[in-house]
Amino acid sequence: MGLMAVVYFEGRASHQMAAVVWVQITVSFFVFLLSAPSQAARLYTEDDPVTILTTDTLKQNVHNSSTAWLVQFYSSWCGHCIQYSPTWKALAGDVKDWEQAIRIGVLDCAHEKNFDICKEFEIHFYPTFRYFKAHGSNTDVGKTYRGPDRELQTVRQLMVNFLQNHTKQDWPSHCPPLEPYSSEDILTLLGHKSEQYTAVIVEDADSYVGREVILDLMPYQGVGVRRVLSSDKLLMDRLGVTDVPAAYLLHPNGTHGLMDAQKRLRFFFSSFLKLLPGVHRQNSAFLQNSAHSSSNGHKPTEEWKEFEKSKVYMADLESGLHYLLRVELATHHTLEGEELKAFKDFATVVAKLFPGRPSVVKLLETLLEWAVSLPLDKIPYDAVLDLVNNKMRISGLFLSDRVQWVGCQGSSVALRGYPCSLWMLFHVLTVQAAKRPDALANTALEDDPQAVLQTMRRYITTFFGCQECGRHFEEMAQESMGAIKTTDEAVLWLWRKHNQVNRRLAGSMSEDPLFPKTQWPTPDLCPTCHEERSGIHVWNEPTVLDFLKRHYGSANISPKYTLQPAPPAPPKDPPPPPMPPTQTQTPTPTFPLPRPLPSPAQHSPPWMSSLGQRAWGTTASLSSRCSPGGSSSVRSGRCRGRAWGPRGSRVWGLASASWPWGSPAWT
Ligand SMILES: Cc1cc2nc3c(=O)[nH]c(=O)nc-3n(C[C@H](O)[C@H](O)[C@H](O)COP(=O)(O)OP(=O)(O)OC[C@H]3O[C@@H](n4cnc5c(N)ncnc54)[C@H](O)[C@@H]3O)c2cc1C
Repeated sequence: MGLMAVVYFEGRASHQMAAVVWVQITVSFFVFLLSAPSQAARLYTEDDPVTILTTDTLKQNVHNSSTAWLVQFYSSWCGHCIQYSPTWKALAGDVKDWEQAIRIGVLDCAHEKNFDICKEFEIHFYPTFRYFKAHGSNTDVGKTYRGPDRELQTVRQLMVNFLQNHTKQDWPSHCPPLEPYSSEDILTLLGHKSEQYTAVIVEDADSYVGREVILDLMPYQGVGVRRVLSSDKLLMDRLGVTDVPAAYLLHPNGTHGLMDAQKRLRFFFSSFLKLLPGVHRQNSAFLQNSAHSSSNGHKPTEEWKEFEKSKVYMADLESGLHYLLRVELATHHTLEGEELKAFKDFATVVAKLFPGRPSVVKLLETLLEWAVSLPLDKIPYDAVLDLVNNKMRISGLFLSDRVQWVGCQGSSVALRGYPCSLWMLFHVLTVQAAKRPDALANTALEDDPQAVLQTMRRYITTFFGCQECGRHFEEMAQESMGAIKTTDEAVLWLWRKHNQVNRRLAGSMSEDPLFPKTQWPTPDLCPTCHEERSGIHVWNEPTVLDFLKRHYGSANISPKYTLQPAPPAPPKDPPPPPMPPTQTQTPTPTFPLPRPLPSPAQHSPPWMSSLGQRAWGTTASLSSRCSPGGSSSVRSGRCRGRAWGPRGSRVWGLASASWPWGSPAWT
């Protein structure tokens, strides 16, 4: 743009005018260049499935490599490059499993650091796509791709062609054969036992499905994929294939038959094979875990619990809540300021929306009431623990203190578990918020379609033990959470972002080889959620939304494996009367709980009626808001008391009369 303007003035206007404009343009051009690195950093980040190359790393990666490479040399100030970056990221995600054969890279030629390498590789236009063959020499500058278009499917198919252009000598070290097999090769396998599955993709000669499925399954153990051509009539007859593409499956036990993958498309074939029993991704995590399992004490889970992956297990949700309340939050000595607010919002959301067993729901409700009624800017976390572990227990309110992973159990105790349950918990909560629009009425979170997600965001950034995860989640939230307008969009947003995380983590150390990170729901769970347009997999989002609402709805939560509440423990000795604080001694606050409930099943306990006559806490909390009128249930979202003090006021003196175990020792 700037350069074009200079040419115009050089040709037509006076030299003086051209000089002035030249200076202006030159200055802005250099200012632009100086700002380029930060823009570059934004076009592709480490979270994208591409390898970001630089002067220091380009040659060492693409020369003498065991894999081929496709590198986009771009410039962060080039509009085309910016517009094209989503396609490039999508392509890289789509072929992530091909990494042992061909890898995708980017190099930003606008970055000062990369000026020389772009010159050396003679990059004149942006974007320039270069293929580098595997095992290339130290002088290889790659072959420029000049295809008919840069659509994802076109480039992906050209990657397959490029791989096939390798000779036997320079074939990428781990890439399986992509050529079709003959009928004899396949027929001799029929009826024989084997250590793994063999999938045979039958297709026309110009189809890419077979080769793409072969590459998709590269990192997986327990299955091999071969392709044969439909022109092989003998084989077509023997396998009983009439329509192509088709997939035929040879089982390890020698049986065989046509594969029922719902749709005869690449994505469906690949997903079906990845989910076969005994098929798992081979990754460094698996090798390391098995190597370390004895020395680290990472034993496999002691007792495997059978479960259905089409169900959500209450045991996972309760175990997650237990860990969150008793372990994760307990690392914070005192809750105050933003932490206290994050805690109260979390307590509000779970108390109002968690579709749990009565004893757990009541525990959450009581925790919320207690938290919002405390006239304090600080809560020592021990008080929460005391409440959850001791005081509520006396009242028959019970949250198991044993971890019992079911749908979240891992092949080793170090894998899955808590983070899995946290995702599930928040999926359940977003679905509940969408199904029960009034559930958060009369709280500060009322009418906010982002309520659950913003609460999750605050929880994750404030308390979640994995800080790096929190950072990533915050980046995703900053990008698009603010645009959510409905609770349905919130359900879909969380699903999309969870899949984004799954994609980033596929093949990483945190992946359990028995539970590979896939784009979820897989076709076996929801075939109609998936479609393919122009060879590219797309989601049918309205169907996904329906599926999520069903899957994470209360009717699909199985109580199997939940631990039964123990009978209420006898009340402990009443606490000693509070000591008045001395000048030098900070009082140790005690945190009373409402009188034990006579019946855990009864939703509106009698002690509430006495509260109905009085204010019972501070209204300082943003997390809970009351309307006059009152009601008998926290869940109903209405206040029990009529006489609420002004927002922020302390009304403890009145409230203390309602707490059967006396007033707190601080005032
Ligand atoms: C907010 C958050 C951020 C995280 N960030 C990171 C990170 O940056 N780096 C890291 O190493 N780990 C991160 N983790 C942990 C990681 O995402 C996994 O939770 C962990 O590796 C356990 O994986 P999993 O196999 O049990 O499946 P999970 O990803 O935990 O999924 C649990 C279950 O949810 C269902 N599910 C899967 N995908 C979806 C979806 N898209 N929508 C709805 N349901 C789905 C499946 O039934 C699955 O079994 C994060 C966890 C959370 C809660």
